[in-house]
Amino acid sequence: MAKKKAAPKATARKAPKRAATAKADRPRCGLCGKTTNLTKTECCDHWICDDEENYVIFSYARNSCHRNHSRYTLCASHHEEGHEGRWQDCARCRAAFEPEIYVYYGTNEYNFDKLENPPAYEPTTCRKCGKVIRLGEGGYSQSSEGYACWECSNVRL
Ligand SMILES: [Zn+2]
Ligand SMILES: [Zn+2]
Ligand SMILES: [Zn+2]
Ligand SMILES: [Zn+2]
Repeated sequence: MAKKKAAPKATARKAPKRAATAKADRPRCGLCGKTTNLTKTECCDHWICDDEENYVIFSYARNSCHRNHSRYTLCASHHEEGHEGRWQDCARCRAAFEPEIYVYYGTNEYNFDKLENPPAYEPTTCRKCGKVIRLGEGGYSQSSEGYACWECSNVRL
């Protein structure tokens, strides 16, 4: 602990070193880790696969990182709707979706950053057989009476 009186008092703080960490050497998709054919997301400026063209129209396949992020996350929807602030704190996003979808969009694997405190919600169940339906995963029908699972939706009486 040597006394150093010589140093001038108010030197401007040195700018933080630019990420010299080893892992930043190569951009990789924040979702799947690929390092080729990347682009940046408009909503959150993360590296992501530029793979939208791999998607086959109407296939509903979820094999495109870019598409998954832009379709199934609050991050992208928040950005598209032009909301203010962080999507994690956004009341308008919260109001826009039913709780189950809100939680799904905020916590699924297509997110770079997940919702920290997802709200609790009642599971959705099939009005016929009572099976729990995961709204985020599709495969159900919705009518004025409620939701029906895929199997029950396809039974014609
Ligand atoms: Zn990817
Ligand atoms: Zn995003
Ligand atoms: Zn929002
Ligand atoms: Zn059912």
